[in-house]
This record gives sequence, structure tokens and C-alpha cells, in this order.
Amino acid sequence: MKVYLDTVGCRLNQSEIETMARQFRAAGHEIVASPEAAELAVVNTCAVTNEAAADSRGAIRRIARAGAAEIIATGCWTTLYPKQAEELPSVRRVVLNDHKDRLVADLLNLTPELFDLEPISREPLPGLHRRTRAFIKSAGRMRQSLHFLRHHHCTRRGAQPPHR
Ligand code: SF4
Repeated sequence: MKVYLDTVGCRLNQSEIETMARQFRAAGHEIVASPEAAELAVVNTCAVTNEAAADSRGAIRRIARAGAAEIIATGCWTTLYPKQAEELPSVRRVVLNDHKDRLVADLLNLTPELFDLEPISREPLPGLHRRTRAFIKSAGRMRQSLHFLRHHHCTRRGAQPPHR
């Protein structure tokens, strides 16, 4: 399956989308550089500002217009507004933040533990070259840090994202 990945927001969102890329690749799927070539797209959304929320909705609409047959919406804006996310074009599934770690495994009917055995991929992510890569050394460490990082990042900007 050809998969297009896009993300809006902080370095943690970027790191998560890179982890998803690694997982899709480990399961034998291809990450493509443009939504035109994709059978499936995943968009990791952000709600830290109104602009970030608008960018998130815009990314989903742009990918739908490009022809991606199926879009999965996840991330902070999606978690705050799941009904709105569901109503966007080509969105077939909404994954809230508390299930995001399992998104790829659930989609592919695999056990998440399988991915923990894979080495971290350093391959570039097609279509996202211009963005800063976050090098977080393990999924376990990332999960431990997730709450702190999100709270710290967003309160620094005076936002009220849906942290747990
Ligand atoms: S943690 Fe904050 S900055 Fe990061 S995606 Fe969520 S709302 Fe946006």
C-alpha cells in the first residue's frame, strides 16, 4: 500500500509521524512523497493556535483534493473535534491521541510489540524533507516524555490543547 504522511504542529508530532513511517515500512508498505500517489494518508493534526487548527483542516482537504482515497485523521485538533474531523472529505477514520501509538498496528491488524523489535529507521520521510527531524531514541522513552513535552510546549504558547 502507498501511504502519504503529513503533520502539523510540534516536534513531537513530527517524531510521531516518523515513527509511523518506520512502522508502515517495517510492515512492507511504501511511504510516498505526494498525496496524488497515495492510497492512504495519515494527518497528525495540531490545535495549539487557531492557525494550526486551520492548517490541520487545510492539510486534510488538500490531500483529499489530491485524490488520496482514504485519510486517517489523528492528533490534537482531531482529539478536540472528532466530529468535525470525521466530516472532512475522505476522512475514513479518526484516531484520538490516546490511541495514536497503536494507529499503524490497529490499521494493519498487527501487535504493536512487533514494532518495538525494529531498529529506528533513519530514512528521510518523503515530502517532509524541509522539516526538522526529531531524534527520539526509543518509542518507550517517547511515551514517557509525551505528557511533559506536550504540556510544556503548549502552555509556553498560551494554548489549551487536549493533554491527558
Ligand atoms: S502537543 Fe501542542 S503543539 Fe504539539 S500537536 Fe498537540 S497542540 Fe500542537
